[in-house]
Amino acid sequence: MDLARYFGDEVLHPIDYIDKDWHEEPFSPGCPVAVIPAGNMGAFAHIREPFSLIHFAGTESATLWTGYMSGAVQSGLRAAHEILHNFKSKHVNAQHLKDSIYDPKYKRPQDWDFTYSSKSKL
Ligand SMILES: Cc1cc2nc3c(=O)[nH]c(=O)nc-3n(C[C@H](O)[C@H](O)[C@H](O)COP(=O)(O)OP(=O)(O)OC[C@H]3O[C@@H](n4cnc5c(N)ncnc54)[C@H](O)[C@@H]3O)c2cc1C
Repeated sequence: MDLARYFGDEVLHPIDYIDKDWHEEPFSPGCPVAVIPAGNMGAFAHIREPFSLIHFAGTESATLWTGYMSGAVQSGLRAAHEILHNFKSKHVNAQHLKDSIYDPKYKRPQDWDFTYSSKSKL
């Protein structure tokens, strides 16, 4: 009913649909998100670093809500802004480049203190 409110009554009569039983997926067994020890996403910041002209997005490279849709969108926006920045777009500001290698506060992985991460036990 919510969809009909936004898109009209046509959506109440679908011609097809697809569903999937995620519990049968051998690699995720129904789990939406991998569990990693605290500090990992900061410690492994290099997965956000571009390689030549290739820029990386994906929820695993997010700094917040890693593993969720929100993280996927955040990382996609970050990667898109990195590319626009390289094209010298005037529409990209410092906030858009936060946590990217173009952020003045960006720390390369060797600058991180890995002690915290390696002591974490989950
Ligand atoms: C069962 C389940 C339930 C979930 N529930 C929620 C939820 O309730 N809320 C929530 O926020 N998140 C949920 N998630 C997580 C959410 O779906 C993901 O975090 C999000 O979809 C990740 O988006 P992404 O763009 O990073 O990666 P993906 O959506 O995985 O996109 C990666 C794409 O790359 C493609 N690809 C892979 N390799 C190649 C290649 N070599 N060449 C070209 N294309 C390639 C893949 O086919 C895929 O389309 C759930 C996930 C699962 C599995």
